[in-house]
Amino acid sequence: MEANMPIEVILDDKTLDSQLRAITEKVVQGLRITEEEGLHLFEQGDLSYVGALANYIREKRHGDHTYFNRNFHIEPTNVCLYTCSFCSYSRLIKKREEGWEYSMDEIMDIVRKYDGEPVTEVHIVGGVLPQYDVEFYSELFRQIKAHRPELHVKALTPVEYHYIFKKAKVSYEEGMRLMKEAGLDSMPGGGAEIFHPEIRDQIAGGKCSGEQWLRIHEIWHELGGRSNATMLYGHIEEYRHRIHHLEELRKLQDKTSGFQTFIPLKFRNKGNQMSHVPESTVIEDLRNYAISRIYLDNFDHIKAYWPMIGREIAQLSLAFGVDDIDGTIDDTTRIYSMAGSEEQSPALSTRELVNLIRRVGRKPIERDTLYKVIQDYTDHVFEEDTAFKGYVSLPVTNKH
Ligand code: SF4
Repeated sequence: MEANMPIEVILDDKTLDSQLRAITEKVVQGLRITEEEGLHLFEQGDLSYVGALANYIREKRHGDHTYFNRNFHIEPTNVCLYTCSFCSYSRLIKKREEGWEYSMDEIMDIVRKYDGEPVTEVHIVGGVLPQYDVEFYSELFRQIKAHRPELHVKALTPVEYHYIFKKAKVSYEEGMRLMKEAGLDSMPGGGAEIFHPEIRDQIAGGKCSGEQWLRIHEIWHELGGRSNATMLYGHIEEYRHRIHHLEELRKLQDKTSGFQTFIPLKFRNKGNQMSHVPESTVIEDLRNYAISRIYLDNFDHIKAYWPMIGREIAQLSLAFGVDDIDGTIDDTTRIYSMAGSEEQSPALSTRELVNLIRRVGRKPIERDTLYKVIQDYTDHVFEEDTAFKGYVSLPVTNKH
C-alpha cells in the first residue's frame, strides 16, 4: 500500500528541520532515537512524515506480512474493586447485581464451547474481585490444560497478579512461578495505562503502580515467559508521559527481550467517569502508532485492536507501523463495547479478517501466540467465494 511517501523523498526535503533530518538518518541506519527526539516527533512530526518512517521500519522488518491469530476471550467478571476513571467496569461494584461473576464451571463451559474450533489461544482478563484468587486461577489454568492441552493460556495482567499475590501473601517471584506451574503460557499487555504517576494516580489510582507492572513482567520474562505491553493514550496525558511510558518499556525490553508486541489502546469516553474528556482524532491515532513503531526499536510487533478503533482505521494503521491485527474474536468480549468502542459486536470471521488485510495490499498470515506461522492466506481461496450461487436473472432493460 502506497500510503506514505518513500523515505528518499524525505531525505531530499530541504525544508525539514535539522532534528527531523537527524531522526530520519537514524531510522535509515537502524539506529535508536533518544527520548528528546521521540518528544520532538510527537510535537513536530506531521502524519505523512512519521508515517513514512514507521512504514519504512515496518516493511524492513515484516514486508507486507500482517499477522493475526484465532483466539477467544473470557472475562470471568465485569465487576471490579478498583475505580479506574476510564473504565466502565468500575461503576459496577455499586450495582453488583447488574454485572456477571462466572463460576469455575461457567468458565469451563465457555472453554468447551470452542471444542473442535480452530482457535489456538484463550485470552482471560477481567475485573478484580476477592473470590478470584491464586487458588481459583491456578485451578482454572489446570482445568483448561487438562481439557485442551495445546490451547495457549494468555491470562491476567499485573493488576490482577499484584492483587492476588498480596492477598495470598506470596512474593511476585513465587506467585508467577505458581502460575507457570498451573499452566499459564503468556501474559497479555493490559493494565499498563500510563506508567507516569502524575497521570496514573489520577486515572488508575489504587491499582498496581507502573514500577510494579514492569517488575511483574520482568519476573515473568526471567521465568522464560513472553508477554505484550499496552499504553492507554489520548486522555489527560501529555506527550512527555507517552515518551516516558515508551522509554520504560524499551529499557525493560533491552534487559529481558521478553515482550513480543506493543498495543496502543485509544481512550474511549463512553460509559465511564471521563466522559467529559474528548477522544483523540484519527490523525493522532495514526501518528501514535507510527511514533510507537519508530521509538520501540527492540519490539518486533505493533498491534492494532480493530474492535477498539474500527475496521477501516485498523486497515489504515497497516501503513503506519502496524503489522498485527487482533484476531478473530467473537462477541464474548464485552470490554470494548462497554467502553464505547467502534464495534458494538466485535466478531470477524477469518475470511472477513483476511479480506480486510488483503484489500489494503498486505499479506495475511495466521500465527500462534508466539508468532509461529500457522498459515499464509495471501492467495488462499475461501470455499464461500467459489461456491456456485446459481444464475442470477437480470432485468430486461431494452426490448427490441
Ligand atoms: S481498568 Fe481494570 S482494574 Fe481498573 S476498574 Fe477497570 S477492570 Fe478494574
